[in-house]
Amino acid sequence: QAIEYEITEFVPVLSFGIYRITDKSVSIRRMGDLADIAKRTVKYGDDSVYTFYSESMLEKMREEKRIENEMQTALDMHEFSVFYQPKVSLDGKVNLTGAEALVRWISPIHGTVSPGLFIPMLEENGFISQVDLYVGTKVKEFLEHLYETNHRLVPISVNLSRMDFFDKKMIKKLLDGIRNSGMPGQFVRYEVTESAYTTLADSDNRTLSELHNMGISILLDDFGSGYSSFSAIREYKFDILKLDMGFISNLEKSERTRLIIRSIISMAHSIGMKVVAEGVENKNQYEYLVSHECDYIQGFYFSKPLPEKEFAKLLVKKDKQ
Ligand code: C2E
Ligand code: MG
Ligand code: MG
Repeated sequence: QAIEYEITEFVPVLSFGIYRITDKSVSIRRMGDLADIAKRTVKYGDDSVYTFYSESMLEKMREEKRIENEMQTALDMHEFSVFYQPKVSLDGKVNLTGAEALVRWISPIHGTVSPGLFIPMLEENGFISQVDLYVGTKVKEFLEHLYETNHRLVPISVNLSRMDFFDKKMIKKLLDGIRNSGMPGQFVRYEVTESAYTTLADSDNRTLSELHNMGISILLDDFGSGYSSFSAIREYKFDILKLDMGFISNLEKSERTRLIIRSIISMAHSIGMKVVAEGVENKNQYEYLVSHECDYIQGFYFSKPLPEKEFAKLLVKKDKQ
């Protein structure tokens, strides 16, 4: 039943964990704990509000805990490194105009682990904010290094997780870090995904505005992969839209996809946004995007994400320009 409290009504969301008693020697307390573990696996929106405890739940928790413990060591031991994937613009010829910073975990035990594997886990345990701050710091150091060694500077974008917006200290650190670095805002960019955007509260939206006021461009990542893309661009003035890879991979197969891509590019332009296509892997895709005035291209067709040194080589020295 809904509970009325002061001026509003609360609808309780219930979930149950069940421990089936087969061994009576297990203490009541432990049975309760195990039922609790089962309960935590029930997610809001699931078909069922209850789950039975199984051994594998405990094993999964242990595994996550192990990785979680390894993460702190990994951060302390500098096992995370940042790769840079070039973005090119297409005004007549191909120009290197920026990069996206992508984190890699190079673990002595597991080898190179892709972020697709460890980021969802880090988002769950909240550790992601520390990694994002680390990536942000590395990017600033890299830009400073490029500046000092007379390289051409290009804007580099850092991915922010939706978890970052829940953590006020993290946001403050992020903003202070940029202010204190003296780095002009135009070289730092942030990519926010739709799912991050949809969970933003008003105060978080203010954070985005604050970043904006510092001259930092904000990109809406993976546009079109979720279900709230349009409300995101309606409610917040993102500067650049990143067309989800799913569109590009279907481009050649589907006339319908091509028409949607064209329409999105022209819609974005009409509201003053630029468009990046990500996941461009071949000439056909590239040519289609160029002919429909997509502003920037990112993908294996031009380059995979590169380590710092290799990326720096692409930035022509000022004096040789
Ligand atoms: P994303 O931000 O959409 O990044 C693009 C992903 O597409 C990268 O995967 C990139 O390596 C991959 N990619 C680039 N070009 C191509 C292509 O032509 N074809 C194909 N098939 N893939 C391409 P990656 O590096 O594995 O990152 C996966 C996701 O993990 C990223 O998606 C981003 O959401 C997240 N991520 C990566 N680094 C960070 C980080 O430092 N912080 C946070 N919060 N998230 C990160
Ligand atoms: Mg991104
Ligand atoms: Mg993306």
